[in-house]
This record gives sequence, C-alpha cells and structure tokens, in this order.
Amino acid sequence: MKKIFAINAGSSSLKFQLLEMPTEIVITKGIFERIGSSEAEFTLNYNTVKKHEILPLSNHQEAVDHLLEVLVTEGIIKTLTEIEGIGHRVAHGGEQFQDSAVINDSILKTIESLNHLAPSHNPVNVIGIKAFQSKLPDTVSVAVFDTAFHHTIRPEAYMYPIPFKYYEKYNIRKYGFHGTSHKYVYETLLKILNKESGEDRVVTCHLGNGASVCAIDSNGHSVNTSMGFTPSAGLMMGTRSGDIDPSIIPFLMEREKLNSKEILDLLNKSSGVLGVSGLSNDLRDIKSAAENNDERAKLALNMYANRVADTISAYVSHLGGIEALVFTAGVGENSSMIRSLVCKRLAFLNLKIDDWNNKNNETFLETDDSAVKVAVIPTNEEVVIARDVVRLGF
Ligand code: ADP
Repeated sequence: MKKIFAINAGSSSLKFQLLEMPTEIVITKGIFERIGSSEAEFTLNYNTVKKHEILPLSNHQEAVDHLLEVLVTEGIIKTLTEIEGIGHRVAHGGEQFQDSAVINDSILKTIESLNHLAPSHNPVNVIGIKAFQSKLPDTVSVAVFDTAFHHTIRPEAYMYPIPFKYYEKYNIRKYGFHGTSHKYVYETLLKILNKESGEDRVVTCHLGNGASVCAIDSNGHSVNTSMGFTPSAGLMMGTRSGDIDPSIIPFLMEREKLNSKEILDLLNKSSGVLGVSGLSNDLRDIKSAAENNDERAKLALNMYANRVADTISAYVSHLGGIEALVFTAGVGENSSMIRSLVCKRLAFLNLKIDDWNNKNNETFLETDDSAVKVAVIPTNEEVVIARDVVRLGF
C-alpha cells in the first residue's frame, strides 16, 4: 500500500487528498482558501475529525508547511516519509506533454515555459510543486496535465482558421481542458459496462462551473473537445461566455472603453449563466427563478441546454454515432433538469431517458428502447492523479 497525495493548487487555494493506493481509499482530504491573507481558511476531513481553522498564510509554502505538520500532529501519518508520492494537477501541458510526467528540473522548466499559455494557472501550479519539493525533496512527484488526454485530437479539429503563422509563432491552437475528468468518467463507464476500450464511441459532458464536452472514439481517444486555446471557449458556463462572435470583443472594448484585462474579466467572470440571468452563476438558483417565471432565468437555461446539445450533436456527427453519453461534475451529476433539457434536444438520435431514473440520479438514465446509453458518473480527478503517480513514479 502506498500513501499518495493528489494536489490541486489554485491562485489562492490548495486542494488536497491523501489516498491509499492501489485501493483508492481516501485517507484525508481538505482545502486551503484565501492563501495570501491574514484570514486564510483551512478545512480538513479525516474520518470523524473535521478541522476548520482561520489562520494567517502569506503564501502556498506556508500552507504546505502547515498541512504536513497537521498530518503528523493529528496522527494521520506518523512521519512524512510515509508519503510515497505526490501528484500535481497542472493546467497546461502545451504540445510538449502528451501524458503525465515525473517531475525533475528539466520537466519543471518545460512546465514554466508554458506559463504564457495559462497565465492564471500554470505559474501557481509550479508554486505548488516547489512548495512540496522544499519539504519533501526525495518524494517522487508527477505532473498530471489537464490538456494531455486531448493530445490525440487531429489538426483539422485543433487548428483555428486564422493565419497559419500564428500557430507557428505562438502555438495558437485548441488544447482542451478537463482531460483528467473526461478520461476518468470514460474509463469508469467502460468498467461498469465490463467493456474494453475499443468498443464504444462516447461523448462525455463535464458540466461544472467550468464546462466542456469531449468526443471519444472507439479507440478511447479524445478526438474533439469544446474548450480551446484557453478554458474560456466552447459551452456557456457559470460565468464564462464560451464561444461568441469574435467581433463583439473589439466592439465592446471600443464602446465601453475596456482594456484587454477588463474585457477578459467581463467574458470570464460576468458572462455565461450569471451574465444572461443577471441573478447567479448557480443553476440551482436559476432553476428556482425559472420556476417563478423569471424570463431571463428561462432564457439562460434554454441557451445553456442548446449549447450543450448542439456540441454533443456535432460530436455525434464527428464520431459517426455514439453508444453512450455521460454527464459529470456539479451540474451534470446533480441537475436532472439540465440533463432532461439536453436529452430532449437529442431525441433525433432516438436517445430517450426515463424520468424516474433521471430524478433519482441513477447511474443509467436511458429507457429500454433508447438507441444510446445515458450515464451519470461522478468525476474523480484526484484518483486519476494518484493512479498516474503509481503508474509512472515507481
Ligand atoms: P467546478 O468547476 O468549480 O469544479 P463543480 O463541478 O463543483 O464546479 O460544479 C459546481 C456547480 O455545480 C455549481 O456552480 C452549481 O451551479 C452546480 N450544481 C451543484 N448542484 C446542483 C444542482 N442540484 N442543480 C444544478 N446545479 C448544481
């Protein structure tokens, strides 16, 4: 048995899970929030121990130091040497990383060289890696890239129709994100169905605050996905616009006197479900408002469902048909209403779901006469990270 950390460092947060591998049992998990403030928050769940602290933490290093100390003082581990591996979620692997990678100096330099492709994610992922390295220098660590699962996408799907020289000069192309999640739910589906990769064509829908759809062919390869050069592209999301006419951007910049950071903030933080409804980014709030006849809430729901269904339809065409559709993440796992709105729009595929199965969050929603299976599979990116540490690190 090995104790493996799965780490997800954000700009002011650090999520962690300590897993026992290969059993995949979660030993402990938790989160640091508001790192960089005098009132950072630390939450840890360990069996019946639920620790919640407000403490000053000026950076990620202090959070990591605190975490490792608490693990020992709470008796969760006896010594730090019990931690045999650490997996770090890294947002962007560019064209360089087609799989997860054991971290050494040269790998770390390559990850840093991709900072410009994900300026709000990669630098902080690197900070997380370095913080653990400084406390556990001899522990194997592995970088798990959000983009890697999508390395099988062909140029005709990943190139943008802009002058080719910008691909050569700046590597502007579709990369796709949420790869660990799409991969996890796809592999879990095959396991549940007792099938080998190489049988089913599947579309997976990761619908959380960020959202993307992925087309997976019968070889188990991602062949298209809706996020692009950045995670702003594709579907309408909680606060992100997804795809829009590119000319809206200079138009708004000019009329509203916005600089590039302000327009990006508008498109990433004030758009999507929040922007259209004017109420909330949370689809639970939008559902209640729509039930009270709020017209903009209804509009937001219909736009959201249209965009998911349109993307699925395009990917079904790309794959030449599908055997299964999978919903995952906060919205996909919990919102029977969104699943129902999306599936109704896919009736032309002879895809039918059973209302009772849907309302009760059953694993399979389809009716007996549906031509396509429809599954709800809770995502678990931490398990993919820990599995990759074990696969590559030992
Ligand atoms: P993140 O992308 O932040 O990891 P999650 O996958 O945790 O997001 O999803 C968070 C979102 O899930 C919330 O914004 C909320 O809108 C949505 N959500 C959670 N439960 C429900 C529900 N019952 N109905 C609709 N939406 C839900």
